Amino acid sequence: MAMDDRQPPVDGPDGAVHNPLCERETINALRRKHLFAFNKGLGQNFLCNPRIPRDIVRGAGIDEQFGVLEIGPGIGCLTYELAKQAGQVVAVEIDARLIPILRETLPFDNVQIVQADFMEVALHQALFQWFGARPVAVVANLPYYITTPIVMRLLEQAPMQLRSVTVMVQREVAERLCAPPGSDACGAISLTVDYYSKARILFKVPADSFVPMPKVDSAVVRFDLREHPPVDCRDVAEMFNLIKLGFGQRRKTLVNAVGNQGRFAKSRIAESLEQMGLSREIRAERMTLSQFARLTDLLLEAPEHPAPERQP
Ligand code: SAM
Repeated sequence: MAMDDRQPPVDGPDGAVHNPLCERETINALRRKHLFAFNKGLGQNFLCNPRIPRDIVRGAGIDEQFGVLEIGPGIGCLTYELAKQAGQVVAVEIDARLIPILRETLPFDNVQIVQADFMEVALHQALFQWFGARPVAVVANLPYYITTPIVMRLLEQAPMQLRSVTVMVQREVAERLCAPPGSDACGAISLTVDYYSKARILFKVPADSFVPMPKVDSAVVRFDLREHPPVDCRDVAEMFNLIKLGFGQRRKTLVNAVGNQGRFAKSRIAESLEQMGLSREIRAERMTLSQFARLTDLLLEAPEHPAPERQP
């Protein structure tokens, strides 16, 4: 399809979905015209199945009230769908070679292209500058080399306006991020994600939906940011430290994994676990976030960490 007779994406009678920027012909024509070669190091695997951007945008649940931040628009196939649903879209792309291509493929009034490394963007300031007080959603097909740092940055530093993050990541990473406590896939990162958001896998995406085709399958994950943390803990940083130490040596009991490295004696950890009705042999992977929060509180009440004396 020529670039100037684009149609809104619709399901045809055969169930086909149309998005010109997902057509291999269009992608190849743009590559030839702009002498563009994929940069593997930047995770450049572009979507070539038009159903996927359509389903990502549906899954993100955005409407014209929303401002959307897209990280890594590539040649713009997801941006194209976002522009039709969201009030405003800002797409941050690191690769300067893609900017002239995006200017050509996305002639929408509500789309702004920014050339920058997302990790260098001052998040709070930029979101306010771009979207004001609008509710904001992040929607992206993330570059795989930097998926986890991007997701963690968004969750841990979430500005007030940020409501949800819907992103395509490697399937294994998706399973780890959304793993329930007690499951084999559960890691420190799953509990961190759970602290900041309600996360779920929306759908899986086969490797042949991309050009060039990656070696692994992918999945789309949606994180809905929590307004309030799901657990109370008197020192959240200490709780995350215990979680990290516990999962750092996940085959060891929590007492050994934490007691060997942390600031708390093994005997004190074992006593606290028993006080909570848990076995002193328990491993981190069997513990919930609220159990880590309670354990942290108990350890901080220990004699080596006395509560400050009240002044008369
Ligand atoms: N959204 C397009 C799609 O779905 O076809 C492209 C997705 S591709 C997996 C990832 C994109 O992220 C590439 O365009 C790449 O250049 C860009 N990218 C990589 N690192 C980035 C970073 N640190 N900041 C912003 N964009 C980045």
